[in-house]
Amino acid sequence: MHDPITSLITKLSTEHRLSAEGYAQLLTTEDPAVQDALITAAVAVRKAQFGNGIFLRGLIELTNYCKNNCYYCGIRRDNKDVMRYRMSHQAVLDCCQMGAELGFRTFVLQGGEDPYWNDARLCALITDIKARFPQCAVTVSLGERSEESYRALRDAGADRYLLRHETADSQHYAMLHPPEMSLANRMRCLRTLKSLGYQTGCGMMVGSPYQTIEHLVKDLQWIEALQPETVGIGPFLPHHATPFAAFPAGSAAMTLRLLSIVRLMLPTVLLPATTALGTLLPDGLEQGILAGANVIMPNLTPNTERCNYQLYDGKCTAAKDTLSVLRDRTLRFAAIGYETVHQRGDAPSFLKP
Ligand code: SAH
Repeated sequence: MHDPITSLITKLSTEHRLSAEGYAQLLTTEDPAVQDALITAAVAVRKAQFGNGIFLRGLIELTNYCKNNCYYCGIRRDNKDVMRYRMSHQAVLDCCQMGAELGFRTFVLQGGEDPYWNDARLCALITDIKARFPQCAVTVSLGERSEESYRALRDAGADRYLLRHETADSQHYAMLHPPEMSLANRMRCLRTLKSLGYQTGCGMMVGSPYQTIEHLVKDLQWIEALQPETVGIGPFLPHHATPFAAFPAGSAAMTLRLLSIVRLMLPTVLLPATTALGTLLPDGLEQGILAGANVIMPNLTPNTERCNYQLYDGKCTAAKDTLSVLRDRTLRFAAIGYETVHQRGDAPSFLKP
C-alpha cells in the first residue's frame, strides 16, 4: 500500500490538491488495488462529513425551448424533431406542492435557454415558490445569463445555481459548442454566481467527443480553483438527432473515479449521482453513492412533458409516479446502507451556526 500512486491518494486526502501529473496518474492507473483505495478513502470522507444520508433534489424541467445549439444536446435549437413545451407558472407551483408533500426540500428549476423565461417571469416564479414553500431551497439551472439577471434571481430568493462548465479546455469547449459560445463566458458566469453568494455548481461530461486525460486534468484544476459547492459529473450519452449521434457513451468507471477524486479534493462538496450515470448503468445511482456521491435528483417534471426533455437517448423514464420512484430509491439505497433524508442539504459552509 505504499507505492507512489497510493501515496497520491493520501496526499489528495490531506492536502486536497495534486499536481497535474498526479491527477493524470490517478485517472489512468489500471491497478485495481489503487481503484479500491481511492473509493475507500472517498467513502470515508463522505461518511465523516454526511454520515450515510443522501440529499434529495426535485428536478423540474420547466422548458425544452433552447436558443443554443450545443453539439451534444438533444434539445439543441436545430433539432426539429422535438415537441417543444413550456410549463406554466401554475404547473411549476403544482409540481413543487407535490414535491413538498413527498418531503423534497430543494427544487431545481432546469431548462433550455428559453427567452420566454426572462427575469420578470422567473423572478415572479421564484418569489412565489419561496413564499409558498419557505422551508425549501430553490436552485436555478437555466444556463448563461447576465450579471444583472443572476443578481435579480438571487434577490428574488434563488439559493443555488447549477451551470456545468462542460470542459475546462477552451479548444475542447469549441469542439462541443458552436462559435457563439465560449469557455471564457461560461467561466465569467460561474465566477459571477459565486460572487453573488449562490451555492454554485459546475461540472463536466465524462467521455464527451474528443476529450483527453489532459482535459479532465484541467477540469479538476478548474474545480480546485473555483471551489464550487456542487459538482455535477456524468457520462456523455449520445442523442440520435445531434451531430454527436455516432459517438460512443462515456465511461462509467471514469465517471466513478472522478467522483471519488472530487470528494477527496472538496470533502464537503455536494456531489450528485447523476441521472446520466443512472441511465448508463442499471445500478449507476448506487455505484455513484458508493464512490462518494451524496445527492440524487429525482425528476418531478410531469409525465406529459418529461419525455420531451430528452438531452440524450434513454433518458425518458415516464412510467412511474414520483412516490413509487422515491420508495424504490429508498429501498435500493437502504440495501447498500444509505438513507435518503428530507433536509434542504445546504453546503456546510452556507449553514447558519
Ligand atoms: N441549459 C442549462 C441546462 C442544461 S441540461 C444549462 O446550460 O446549464 C444539464 C446538463 O446536461 C448539461 O450541462 C450537460 O452537461 C448535460 N447534458 C446535455 N446533453 C448531454 C448528453 N448528450 N449526454 C450527457 N449529458 C448531457
